[in-house]
Amino acid sequence: MNIIKQIFFKRLQKLRVRFPILYRQRAPYSAVRVDDLPDVLEPGKVYLVGENDHLWSAALKCPGGCGIVLEMNLVPDTRPLWRVAEHGGCVTIEPSIWRKKDCECHFRLTNGFVRWY
Ligand SMILES: [Zn+2]
Repeated sequence: MNIIKQIFFKRLQKLRVRFPILYRQRAPYSAVRVDDLPDVLEPGKVYLVGENDHLWSAALKCPGGCGIVLEMNLVPDTRPLWRVAEHGGCVTIEPSIWRKKDCECHFRLTNGFVRWY
């Protein structure tokens, strides 16, 4: 990520946290089961990568708009570890997702909706 883009998305993240009204999400995130992560991820979708009931990662395009693919580990013996729950097609990821570099997006995905921190 180039430095201009990085500064822009960092500022945007701070604005969203201060003024949540700036960020209005139209539809909840839905879960998609895949064997392999596709090269291009669609916005608004959480990709659950695994086989049958064994999931090893969850991935989504950063909801901050920077376009970075965020990938969370779901394999219990490996850290850091996230948990995913699906209810009625909507997806919850716990704990929060925090990209500590580039855009510095920090959010929680609950029932398909993003809450910024
Ligand atoms: Zn981002």
